[in-house]
Amino acid sequence: MEAKTVQAYQMFVGGKWIPSRSGRVYPVYNPAQGSAMAEVPRGDASDVAFAIETAKAAFAEPSWRGMDPSKRGRILYKIGLTIRENIEELARVETMNNGKPIGQSKGDVAYAARLFEYYAGLADKFQGETIPLPGSRLDYTLKEPIGVTAHIIPWNYPIALAARSIAPALAVGDTIVAKPASFTPLTLLKLAEIAKASGLPDGVFNVVTGAGEEVGEEIARSPDIKLIALTGSTATGGRVLELAAKNLTRVVLELGGKNPNIVFADADLTRAARGVIDGIFTNAGQMCWAGSRLLVEEGVQEKLLGKVLEGIKQLKLGDGLDQSIGMGPLISESQRKRVMGYVEAGLKEGAKLLVGGKPPKDERLKDGYFFEPTVFTSASSDIKIVREEIFGPVLSVMTFEALEEAVEIANDSEYGLYAGVWTTSLRTAHRVAKEVESGMVSINEYPVTYPQSPFGGFKKSGLGFEQGVDAIESYLRVKNVEINLD
Ligand code: NAD
Repeated sequence: MEAKTVQAYQMFVGGKWIPSRSGRVYPVYNPAQGSAMAEVPRGDASDVAFAIETAKAAFAEPSWRGMDPSKRGRILYKIGLTIRENIEELARVETMNNGKPIGQSKGDVAYAARLFEYYAGLADKFQGETIPLPGSRLDYTLKEPIGVTAHIIPWNYPIALAARSIAPALAVGDTIVAKPASFTPLTLLKLAEIAKASGLPDGVFNVVTGAGEEVGEEIARSPDIKLIALTGSTATGGRVLELAAKNLTRVVLELGGKNPNIVFADADLTRAARGVIDGIFTNAGQMCWAGSRLLVEEGVQEKLLGKVLEGIKQLKLGDGLDQSIGMGPLISESQRKRVMGYVEAGLKEGAKLLVGGKPPKDERLKDGYFFEPTVFTSASSDIKIVREEIFGPVLSVMTFEALEEAVEIANDSEYGLYAGVWTTSLRTAHRVAKEVESGMVSINEYPVTYPQSPFGGFKKSGLGFEQGVDAIESYLRVKNVEINLD
């Protein structure tokens, strides 16, 4: 048997690898094996203070923010290229640390590269305006980097979501302090190393590892942080907002979802079934944009679910490094218990379990945190499994009779992140897109996003948005200059 090695990592501050000041470390797990794969410093308030001081100094010293923006863009582009050159290694680490199938990790790493390439192109294109004023006056705006920005990252898409907020911040000349999720710090640490190797000055990109309540809260309460970009749960978003309020720190919050995937009777049901499966079982359902509520038009439920069940049969569970698997484990035992708790609640509240609902019996999977793809039918909008974000491979199916009813069910949620619509009718597609209360709508595919299109949620799914040209504004401040020419 291969000996298991536990690699020791350090934090990355000021362009150097450093331990935590307290010397404390914690283990990081491979969720498919249920065993430790690495050891990472457990940062505290003093580590956060040091990283923020370092980032502040790198911002004050103008070589980064004052750099020719096209040169800054070239550095970002090089980061993107270097990520691509290291895609195999980064994807392997992502899969071992998060559990997702290797193909999905490669997609995530390529997405991170694409984000850097996209914002590289914008580094010399954010520009002010001249504004007409009465009389002999000149008025113009300056767009300036905001200062030190913080990036608090979840564990479900570690490298992709780190890149999503870090790339625009760097493009405009901010300096950063990033905190990975405690479960999955490894690819962000590697990203910091890649950024340095690509020419980023020391002190611009700092990473502090540790717990959310310690490191995350300390970052959020710092008056020296000028913007906090958090991707995480709605509860964490609320806490960060509360802490940020004390200093009036700007926030961008990308939070949870309970997303409707709406299938009309005229849809291509084979394609829709594929979208239903990808929408809830990709990443073992641990997705903010998971299509966890399937709304299907009366009359086609049986046919659609037949196809979904066929697809589930093909979904092999296992270690993500095995190319043939379709679904990996959940991130941790506590996450598995949480999912199990929801299954029990679903049964208690009268939903019918069609498939799954438990860990797999396969002896080879016994050490990992696996859970079977699960489908509940006869669900209704007032039960827990339909109202709350489960963050696991659990689909709740409901039926509707008409478009108005579909929209009403879709909107009956405190979340509003993403919605899928499956139909061959333009009228249906555009009417639902207009009426559904979610920050993103996908028609005839699910789930999909690109760096150039905005990603953000309505209601309790978030505040502000990431991606696209306009997201860069969050990382800037606008100064108005008025001159009397008389
Ligand atoms: P989480 O909220 O537990 O953690 C997210 C990050 O916040 C981690 O780095 C964590 O250490 C940190 N954190 C935790 N408590 C904190 C606190 N009190 N103060 C400051 N930081 C704290 O979320 P998670 O379990 O890592 O990720 C799952 C959640 O993220 C889900 O709700 C999911 O929907 C959401 N999510 C949203 C998006 C989006 O783009 N909208 C994308 C991915 C995940």
